[in-house]
Amino acid sequence: MRARVLGSAAGGGLPQWNCGCDNCVLVRAGDARVAARTQDSVAVSRGDRWLLVNASPDVHRQIEGFAGLHPWAARHTPIGAIALTNGDLDHVLGLLSLRESQPLVVLSTERVRAGLVERNAMLRTLARSAGQVSWQTLAPGKELVLEDVGVGVTAVPQPGKLPVHLVGLVEPSPEDNVALRIRDLVTSRTVAIATAVGSLDALDPLTRDVAALFFDGTFWSDDELVSLGLGQARARDMAHVPVGGPTGSLAALAGVGIERRVYTHINNTNPMLREDSPERAAVERAGWEIAHDGLEVVV
Ligand SMILES: [Zn+2]
Ligand SMILES: [Zn+2]
Repeated sequence: MRARVLGSAAGGGLPQWNCGCDNCVLVRAGDARVAARTQDSVAVSRGDRWLLVNASPDVHRQIEGFAGLHPWAARHTPIGAIALTNGDLDHVLGLLSLRESQPLVVLSTERVRAGLVERNAMLRTLARSAGQVSWQTLAPGKELVLEDVGVGVTAVPQPGKLPVHLVGLVEPSPEDNVALRIRDLVTSRTVAIATAVGSLDALDPLTRDVAALFFDGTFWSDDELVSLGLGQARARDMAHVPVGGPTGSLAALAGVGIERRVYTHINNTNPMLREDSPERAAVERAGWEIAHDGLEVVV
């Protein structure tokens, strides 16, 4: 089974249009120490049909940039399904770029589906014809089998938050934010993808017996945006456990015996993006990789 990172940045991408932080400035200057990155998405396959995990606002150029996702015929897509980990716009806006009357299979929890479809007139563009979008419910802990892609998908709820546009409209639920276990139906080798993890309390069912883990690398420190003067919210307020520090994910996951461990969904402010930074050195010393667009993990 192959897992290919289409986009390795958190919401906003790298560079982010309105950001002049050190990393964004270096990328614009063409500095070799930091590569540009598009917004979070991973494509998984065991053959020639693909499951997309999240539909990023950059999905159009992510598809064009990877021949495996190009159509085989005049009207066709090898994308067998799209699984959504939450309703944040950086994970779902790409759905609206995939209209063009193309039938789509979208997997999400019932909560994420309702948050997108109800009260949202624009989503009706994906309901032009009966069955244009076929929603399939990811019930937590229950594997959903995608025969054409050759994988089974299981949602594992993770502490998260409501998407910004639903705050105050609905009550939070454990199904607002999930990680996914994606199992090769032939070999049973499993990849876990967790791009928004608000606390480390629900790790065990996620990481048990996985061959590769893609994990929330949004922020290095809890006060990253505050200390840079870029915002008031702390990492944990935004449902992202920081990578560094004594209570960060790098320390908490130090003992897990997983062959490939990859940080992804990395915010443009995160110092570990810079190849010569001490933060990058610490991550690599611990056996982790930093995702870049195009990184492929084969399990
Ligand atoms: Zn995100
Ligand atoms: Zn920036």
